Amino acid sequence: MKLLLKGGRIIDPAQNVDLVGDVLVQDGRIAKVGGQIDPGDAEVLEARGLVVAPGLIDLHTHLREPGLEAKEDIGSGTRAAAAGGFTTICCMPNTRPVIDNAVLVAGVTQRAGLEGAVNVRVIGALTKGQEGKELAEIGDMIAAGAVALSDDGHFVESARIFRTGLEYAGMFDGVVVSHAEDESLAGDGYMHEGAVSAALGLRGRPAVSEDIAVARDVMLAEYTGALLHIAHVSTLGAVEIIRQAKRRGVRVTAEVTPHHLTLTDEAVLGFDPAAKVHPPLRSGEHVEALLAGLKDGTLDVIATDHAPHAFEEKDVEFRYAPSGFAGLETALGVVLTELYHTGKFTLPELIDRMAAAPARVFGLEGGTLKPGAPADITLFDPNQEWRVDSSLFYTRGKCTPFAGKSLKGKAVATIVGGRVVMKNGEVRA
Ligand SMILES: [Zn+2]
Repeated sequence: MKLLLKGGRIIDPAQNVDLVGDVLVQDGRIAKVGGQIDPGDAEVLEARGLVVAPGLIDLHTHLREPGLEAKEDIGSGTRAAAAGGFTTICCMPNTRPVIDNAVLVAGVTQRAGLEGAVNVRVIGALTKGQEGKELAEIGDMIAAGAVALSDDGHFVESARIFRTGLEYAGMFDGVVVSHAEDESLAGDGYMHEGAVSAALGLRGRPAVSEDIAVARDVMLAEYTGALLHIAHVSTLGAVEIIRQAKRRGVRVTAEVTPHHLTLTDEAVLGFDPAAKVHPPLRSGEHVEALLAGLKDGTLDVIATDHAPHAFEEKDVEFRYAPSGFAGLETALGVVLTELYHTGKFTLPELIDRMAAAPARVFGLEGGTLKPGAPADITLFDPNQEWRVDSSLFYTRGKCTPFAGKSLKGKAVATIVGGRVVMKNGEVRA
């Protein structure tokens, strides 16, 4: 089976490629890139005016399966991914039961192979039941295909357990992903601690709770020499700690979400439960630091932290609403609107942060259009204008702080292993 993408702007940061031309896909792999390629018997997909990029990869998706299918399942979550232009997503283990053993890693991987519209890689729990007390079967899970280990949703309170987890994962070259918020400082807070929380009379989650947690984890990574990845960085202090650590050669990488890059705690004014998330939306100085960190490579990756909830769970008073919201279907549009069209980032920089860098950080195949690589490709129109209407989302999580926003830039086609799984917003898988 052959597919020819004709006349698009091909951007492949992993190879420093940015040119107008054709891409030929054959037998699920990239066969040829650049210039004018004779279609022969290939199916032709017109890409004029579109960007042809390596398929977007999300390192932080909550698929909610097993056990929480009212919020999302593999079918709905991967279709949301395809609609948003993602070809690979890595799913978090805070499910019911928690994905903390090899059988569950293998089971979710297998189900995703059958039901999934895009590639799914599973992140196993670092500790049993994500309770932070006893290490999970790290080696067995990695052998079963786990791509990283994380107690995401919780900070691993015990430094001793976290150290042992880093050491154990390190023996298999496994990456440990940290949800870094010191719960003794942040645990009973609802939003960023600052002027807005004071005005609203809501208890805050101070930035220092994240700074402390990131500092501890970075020091343990430095001490053990293991691979550490910091999830959803949201503070100025954390950016600076990671920047210094990288200079010293610590093996730490980090991600930042589209919402932390583009929204402030003022989104909570009016008590909109859609704006409730952990770590919380911060004040402007933090947003500026995140943008600078993403620019200079301190923050390697943009990840969605797609965290869908059933509408009736989220549609309650702010204090009682669960934290998190859907992100897969807005990520690219938000990033292009707020980071590209404002002149802050170039397209190659953003494609690096959303495709090449995620592949590098988790050691995944893909993230490039090099001949021989899997034919995971995202075509997007950087200039298409659209309005966020969550009733049209494929995800079950209809809640988003971007609801009603006008965005510029949208995925037009998503190709996974040479198969077109989404075209013009319609998912076919
Ligand atoms: Zn988290």
